[in-house]
Amino acid sequence: MHRDPVIIIGSGLAGYGVVRELRKLDSEIPVSMLSADHAGFYSKPMLSNALTTGKTPETLVNSDASKMADQQKISICPHTRVTDIDRDNHVLTLQGGDELSYGRLVLALGADQVHLPLQGDGVSDILSINDLDDYGRFRNALEGKKKISIIGAGLIGCEFANDLAAAGYQVNVIDISQQPLGRLLPPAAGAYLQKKLASIGITFYFDAMTQQVERVGERLRLVLASGEALESDIILSAVGLRPRIKMAEAAGIRVNRGIVTNQLMQTQDPEIFALGDCAEVQGKVLPFVMPITHAARALAATLAGNPTPVHYPAMPVLVKTPACPTIVSPPDIDAKGDWHVDVDGDGVRALFKDAADNLLGYALLGALTKEKNTLTAQLPPVLQ
Ligand SMILES: Cc1cc2nc3c(=O)[nH]c(=O)nc-3n(C[C@H](O)[C@H](O)[C@H](O)COP(=O)(O)OP(=O)(O)OC[C@H]3O[C@@H](n4cnc5c(N)ncnc54)[C@H](O)[C@@H]3O)c2cc1C
Repeated sequence: MHRDPVIIIGSGLAGYGVVRELRKLDSEIPVSMLSADHAGFYSKPMLSNALTTGKTPETLVNSDASKMADQQKISICPHTRVTDIDRDNHVLTLQGGDELSYGRLVLALGADQVHLPLQGDGVSDILSINDLDDYGRFRNALEGKKKISIIGAGLIGCEFANDLAAAGYQVNVIDISQQPLGRLLPPAAGAYLQKKLASIGITFYFDAMTQQVERVGERLRLVLASGEALESDIILSAVGLRPRIKMAEAAGIRVNRGIVTNQLMQTQDPEIFALGDCAEVQGKVLPFVMPITHAARALAATLAGNPTPVHYPAMPVLVKTPACPTIVSPPDIDAKGDWHVDVDGDGVRALFKDAADNLLGYALLGALTKEKNTLTAQLPPVLQ
């Protein structure tokens, strides 16, 4: 494989992951990074426990774009949005109309927040947090406020709920399902997590569909399908992410749930690669840090001239809810089996096993999170 210059679009953990791994292997290949945002390096997972860890939007940034450019010996263009990929001529169009040639292209575009189709004049005041700029707006909005409603009891909703409640805010969490982390935990484990989060003051509304958000003076009123209304100072939406696929799709690159790649993170265009939250690698969309780390390492080797398919081991996710330590390693979406759940005073052990008693996934809560390493060692790899 040749060693043409590389352009990376996106400065999140995926974009910077590739840069760092590539520079370990090759200090010469010219690399440019284009980013629609500030392009400072920060760890996105830290956004949802920044209050309890005493971080501000400013102190969350480890290194700004110019420092990263110096350290990694690359060129970085912050606040530069790519609007179009012309694959025939190997040219990118930037917002404003400038054009840029590429040799090899890495798409590390991330994902967009899903916005619920709600009614009411308060809908435009709903906040969501998927990057540092969003988080800065949220922290400004929090000044002098007390009561926060969070729509969505998934991983990100629960983490922000725990962080806000621990910092003294009154928190409501609203979800259409029956339990927190509905996609990751069996019901008994969800009930345990709910009880622990309720014990630090979080109020849950389950089986509850948000329909409308209205402005009431300085506050917002969230109206449920049942007619019940909740008033709060801030409403945060955390109902899921959708991989950013539109630009790739418009360029004729194959997309499905994410930008479709093989195990080399290569799209059907051999010069264009994708990884991170925007990508669907060998059928898997895995919007977490560990898959990005593995994919970045493999892609860097490929870009350095040594084609290397990515392999994913079992990759448990630590849920940052200190009121109830929780680790999940969900079974594959197509896995056949059943949950076997033990609940005791100390925590929950939920094992997902197939008919032959093979462990395919697990969830550990409370003190039983100490069993993480033993169980992880028994899990099959996510991608061989
Ligand atoms: C609050 C929160 C907590 C999380 N906690 C955890 C956790 O505890 N553990 C875990 O494993 N995962 C966690 N995650 C998920 C994890 O953070 C993400 O999977 C990861 O950060 C995604 O990185 P990325 O580089 O793919 O995308 P992003 O970080 O979204 O980066 C995308 C980049 O692409 C740029 N971009 C997009 N379109 C264009 C364009 N057209 N032109 C130029 N630039 C463009 C953006 O500006 C951005 O720089 C969390 C996520 C959130 C939101």
